[in-house]
Amino acid sequence: MLPLTYRPVPVALTIAGSDSGGGAGIQADLRTFAFNQVHGTSAITCVTAQNTMAVTRVDVLSPEAVIAQIEAVAEDIGFDAVKTGMLPNAEIILAVAQTVQKNNLQTLVVDPVMVSRAGARLIDEDAISTLKTHLIPHALILTPNRYEAEILSDQSIETLQDMKAVAIAIHQLGSQSVLIKGGGCTGDLQGTDVWFDGQQLEVLKADPVPTPNTHGTGCTLSAAIAAQLALSQPPLNAVKAAKDYITQALHHALQIGQGPGPVGHWF
Ligand code: PLP
Repeated sequence: MLPLTYRPVPVALTIAGSDSGGGAGIQADLRTFAFNQVHGTSAITCVTAQNTMAVTRVDVLSPEAVIAQIEAVAEDIGFDAVKTGMLPNAEIILAVAQTVQKNNLQTLVVDPVMVSRAGARLIDEDAISTLKTHLIPHALILTPNRYEAEILSDQSIETLQDMKAVAIAIHQLGSQSVLIKGGGCTGDLQGTDVWFDGQQLEVLKADPVPTPNTHGTGCTLSAAIAAQLALSQPPLNAVKAAKDYITQALHHALQIGQGPGPVGHWF
């Protein structure tokens, strides 16, 4: 018997790494999907041992294990939107790109996780070039942070003009749209993001939130975008709603552990 409250629910899939501290990665994504009223499914790419102070170990799954998780969800449940987060090596990126093509996934958010917000490298050089050539061209929305945007464009970002130029340059990699996030910047650029879809260039501003507890910001933003896409929002509306969401999450960031805590969702 169906429960009395039965109704169709949008479904989102995250393909990302696990964060044992619960602040970023899969844990942040599933929480964000839930708080955005979307059922969350997941394909785990790697298991990190980490807390608020350090990542002490990373165990990477095989490409076959990652694909099996995606196919299991695709064959039965399906999904309205997909996001990718930490894809630790070229083999996994290639396998994910092939699966995206095979399943004709149109609603794909690629968060090109390469460097954490604190500036630490999370994937190797080979993985970066594979991401550029094989996965990014399939993205509906690509969401690099300041450091990732600098790596992808080979240009540095110091000013808003730089951010705009980098958005236009990165769009050439083939994603339908790009959102350059200024969260990792200082001064005026903090809280400023730049959106470009080949025609429309928009500067999106929010007042910077003064908190050291920003772990999981990028994951949460891209998951919120995927959730909004799953709820049938068009891309720029999804980005604007997700930006409001992450701004609130920063205002409600958690002071847990001894290092920088994660953004919070209880608001
Ligand atoms: N994914 C995983 C598994 C991570 O451990 C991290 C950072 O530690 C990230 C993604 C990126 O996190 P953020 O959203 O803070 O950029």
